[in-house]
Amino acid sequence: MLVSAKEMLQKAKAGHYAVGQFNINNLEWTKAILATAQELNSPVILGVSEGAGKYMAGYKTIVGMVNGMLEEMKITVPVALHLDHGSYDACYKCIEAGFSSIMFDGSHLPIEENIEKTKELVKICAEKGMSLEAEVGSIGGEEDGVVGMGECADPEECKKIADLGVDMLAAGIGNIHGVYPDNWKGLSFETLAAVQEKTGTMPLVLHGGTGIPDEQVKKAIDLGVSKINVNTECQLVFAAATREYIEAGKDRQGKGFDPRKLLLPGTEAIKAKVKEKMELFGSVGKA
Ligand SMILES: [Zn+2]
Repeated sequence: MLVSAKEMLQKAKAGHYAVGQFNINNLEWTKAILATAQELNSPVILGVSEGAGKYMAGYKTIVGMVNGMLEEMKITVPVALHLDHGSYDACYKCIEAGFSSIMFDGSHLPIEENIEKTKELVKICAEKGMSLEAEVGSIGGEEDGVVGMGECADPEECKKIADLGVDMLAAGIGNIHGVYPDNWKGLSFETLAAVQEKTGTMPLVLHGGTGIPDEQVKKAIDLGVSKINVNTECQLVFAAATREYIEAGKDRQGKGFDPRKLLLPGTEAIKAKVKEKMELFGSVGKA
């Protein structure tokens, strides 16, 4: 059964480790992440962007697939199914479809409107036993087709949103989505420490986990980050492994064109990447 991310993240915050949110794109992705979480006895959050939701034929399809896997694969570790960067409308669609967690991304809205809509969603999520993530300060990188450098959130605004009763808070600390440019300045631990001081026990979320050096990830966890989003990194290793298979001509040997063979190296590559991240985040054995 899917669970809210609230409890797993509170435990992570108290235990000074982080739970990974791994975004899913299809059946292979989902199966690889769930199998790895179970094998490593780690809690896990499956992230679904609006684009991936459309790609997978809608939120209800995803809920059906994930619930089926939890049962058929005998998954016993805590699993949350989470909408990533949801608009107001997408949040409602996911609540209705049976997600266990949502992120309302009101970061582009005026702060007052962000607060109003967040308040409303806090109430609904509490009623449904779902968890809610809010974002303060826009996280850079390619979000909605706009590429920007990492911004830093205002700690006071973070406190305002945290106090509304959300379960986790994404604050920009110089992190960006996608691959980091060569001239990236690194995470702003000063901002993170200030946000942490204002928000106390609130689990903080680090978006754009791809390519942040391991030492910076560890330091961020020490300073209060309890959820880290990984998306691009799994895409890169999946593509590389698939490319290698095809370039070696394996799809032309015997039944190598069978999708169950063709997609296997990429799926195995995702498993290895998820394992590496869970070890780095410290969530292994914490289910
Ligand atoms: Zn994000």
